Amino acid sequence: MSPELFVIIYDLILFTAFAVVTWIVVVSWRWRTAPGSKALMIMMIGMGFWTLCYALHLSTVSRPEPYFWSKLMFLGVVMIPAGFLVWASRYTKYDGWINKLTLSLLFIEPVLFNIIVWTDPWHKLFSGNFLTTGILGIAFWLHSFYSYTLLAIGGVMLFLNWLHINRIHQKQALLVLLGLPIACTANLITIFRITPFRELDFSPLGFIAAGMIFTYAQLRHNLFDLVPVARNKVFEGMRAGAIVLDNQERIMDINKAGEEMLETTINDALGKEVLSILPAWQEAVSRAAANKDARVEFVSKDPEKRNIELSANILYDNKNQPYGKIIILRDITKMKQTEITLRRTNENLTQKIAEIETLQVKLKEEAIRDPLTGLYNRRFLQETLNREIAHADRARVPLGLAMIDLDHFKNINDTYGHALGDLFLTSLASLLEKKTRSTDVCCRYGGEEFVIVMPTASLEEAAQRVDQLRIEFGNIKIETGKKEVSVTLSAGVACYPLHGDNDKSLIDAADRALYTAKAKGRNRVVVAK
Ligand code: GH3
Ligand code: MG
Ligand code: MG
Repeated sequence: MSPELFVIIYDLILFTAFAVVTWIVVVSWRWRTAPGSKALMIMMIGMGFWTLCYALHLSTVSRPEPYFWSKLMFLGVVMIPAGFLVWASRYTKYDGWINKLTLSLLFIEPVLFNIIVWTDPWHKLFSGNFLTTGILGIAFWLHSFYSYTLLAIGGVMLFLNWLHINRIHQKQALLVLLGLPIACTANLITIFRITPFRELDFSPLGFIAAGMIFTYAQLRHNLFDLVPVARNKVFEGMRAGAIVLDNQERIMDINKAGEEMLETTINDALGKEVLSILPAWQEAVSRAAANKDARVEFVSKDPEKRNIELSANILYDNKNQPYGKIIILRDITKMKQTEITLRRTNENLTQKIAEIETLQVKLKEEAIRDPLTGLYNRRFLQETLNREIAHADRARVPLGLAMIDLDHFKNINDTYGHALGDLFLTSLASLLEKKTRSTDVCCRYGGEEFVIVMPTASLEEAAQRVDQLRIEFGNIKIETGKKEVSVTLSAGVACYPLHGDNDKSLIDAADRALYTAKAKGRNRVVVAK
């Protein structure tokens, strides 16, 4: 390709680049209030102006003097280093030095340099021996040195930012960092004439490429400007501890609650393997691997010894690839305490219910028992007798009933005292307890009157068993003073269905037989007629 054709093509590229930069500036206009945006726009406008002037210089457009366009372009060139420095400071937040005074200081060199450029014919500080040796004057080299100093300072800021930024923004920070070498390489190639097209300046394109990268970063920065604010509000304000892990299970972030629960600080924790500060993680992982509920409980390291519940989720990026995990630590101490209190209350309640049930049984028992002898009382007999008769009726078996009355018991009481009388009553009761069958029902019917219900017993069998009791009772002797006392009993025996088909008639029949026994001289058993 002939050098002339290349210049024409390059000129067209420059015009295109100018159009692109103009478009970028117009698009960026809506973000102009975001921190760093104005500086970036000034830098981009400088690049655009530079590119346009240079394109006009290379073109055939008329000019008042041969180097008019290439002198004019320095108005744009000087905007770039200052613009870049301010933008890099804003972008990396190393912008504490920026104020009205420092910003106005940044105008000094551009103004001076442009004055030197336009007054060059009088002092040649800028052009130097360019026409004879091709080497520019001292002013150009001082300007270059000054510009590179500003660019280098901004570059260091971007580098430090890349070192310290969290992993999520690291790719972007690296990209921004690459912008500068691209621009500088193009510029240095030109200054030191390393290209085959020695008279052509490639720096505008290099700077525009860098400017596009910076703009891209700035736009993303603006878009995500709110994210850190939201993160601080939500993440730090959470009552639960939260830990973000990368795919290697190293800690990328931890909030305040998490720091407290694990007795660590974000500075200590960052980059560490999560297991080293959260041993419970092991269990959670193995539970998750076994497809079990991965929640794990452990006790916090802080002096409060809180109960913590650990749960975790996998974080997916927008391509659905896992890029880390988030661990949530919940303080469940209160819940646990409530649980314990509840369990205790429940246990107490169960115990109380058991006590009440025992009491109820006892009460029920007491309601049907006679306190002195422990035998069933008359009320129980009334409740049971008809049922026993019904049983006997269904089973077509007889049912014996005896009415017992102690003989001359009033005399015993009167002669030996009521206490001895009571002793005979309890003696009879234990005799009945021992000698009757388990299916028999023994009741204290009245003062010294007793009833025995004998299911399946015929009249004869019942009379015989009662007579046996009579003999055994008569043999009981109780010592009082120097005397042995004994008491006899009389009994009347009746039988279902022979003497009645209900409780009343059956008891009446037995009672009448008892009356006969008394009349016949007592200490005997008489069967009903
Ligand atoms: P009988 O042979 O005719 O039945 O003569 P009895 O003295 O037994 O006749 P009665 O029915 O008149 O007297 C019953 C006595 O039983 C009266 C009372 O003092 C006595 N008695 C009733 N209940 C008790 C008691 O709980 N303890 C004692 N020690 N005596 C009682
Ligand atoms: Mg009596
Ligand atoms: Mg009596």
